[in-house]
Amino acid sequence: MRIGIVGLGNMGLGMAGWLAGTGAAVTGFDLHGPSVAAALEKGVTIAGAVAGVAAPVVILSLPQERAVEAVLAALLPALEKGAVVVDTSTLDPLAARRFHALAATMGVGYLDAPVSGGPAGAAAGTLAMMLGGDAAAIERARPVLERMAAKIIPVGGPGAGQVAKLVNNLLVATHLAVAAEALRMGQAAGVDMAALLPVVNAASGRSAATEVNFPKWIASGGFDSGFSAGLMRKDVRLALGLAQAVGARLDACGAAAALWEETEVADSADFNRVPAAILAAPGAAA
Ligand code: NAD
Repeated sequence: MRIGIVGLGNMGLGMAGWLAGTGAAVTGFDLHGPSVAAALEKGVTIAGAVAGVAAPVVILSLPQERAVEAVLAALLPALEKGAVVVDTSTLDPLAARRFHALAATMGVGYLDAPVSGGPAGAAAGTLAMMLGGDAAAIERARPVLERMAAKIIPVGGPGAGQVAKLVNNLLVATHLAVAAEALRMGQAAGVDMAALLPVVNAASGRSAATEVNFPKWIASGGFDSGFSAGLMRKDVRLALGLAQAVGARLDACGAAAALWEETEVADSADFNRVPAAILAAPGAAA
């Protein structure tokens, strides 16, 4: 099985290494030297240019729309008709629809295929993948999708996978912000986070924020999830843009989104630094 991949960062490197480990012939490309070196160590062949990754299925794992646009311009002419681009980047659903249409003009399938599960899920082949696109392209890509994801969830037509991803990540951002505030209140009232988390997680206030993020990356001081604050802010902005485009009100989520913008944490920092900063923020005078 031949697979191409462009973008060998936190997510792409894990996917490429996992797929190479399953015996697939994986060819990758990235602009960033250290990512390339790490991929070589994992048995990935490195192409000298984007077009060199051409294969029946090519995965993209890129930071934003601009990068996908540039990569598709170089990649699509190099692909055979019937090839499928599986774009795991998180993007505006409208951009995804544009990329579907662009690929179709070249006889190539395109799937918006954003993922959840982080770098650990990418490196273990256990991602959850949300798919937007036509059933024929999904079937052509299925052997690769089944190797790299534990859950493959077709959501609908072009862009539907990205809509689902933005719903999910808006919830993650909101849950993290509100959990930090509620825990801050508990701590101010004299009960430590270490005592509060097991209670919330045994009760009905729990969420992935309290079950995973707070114990694993915040209370531990590890802050090594492999997902940056800048990428989460990108997802929150995309969700706000989608809400505006479709006329959907976001009152509670909108307030949480504002906290993601206002909280002074560098874009390059781990995204768990944002709820940690909210938790540590002094309370307002009553
Ligand atoms: P990252 O910044 O670690 O990796 C992106 C890689 O793309 C970098 O190595 C960069 O050099 C490369 N790149 C950028 N422009 C390029 C170009 N024109 N040509 C070739 N390579 C290029 O980001 P990441 O954390 O791996 O995330 C990738 C995508 O997956 C993003 O859209 C992100 O929102 C999404 N995502 C990330 C996570 C996570 O936990 N990190 C989880 C789910 C989804």
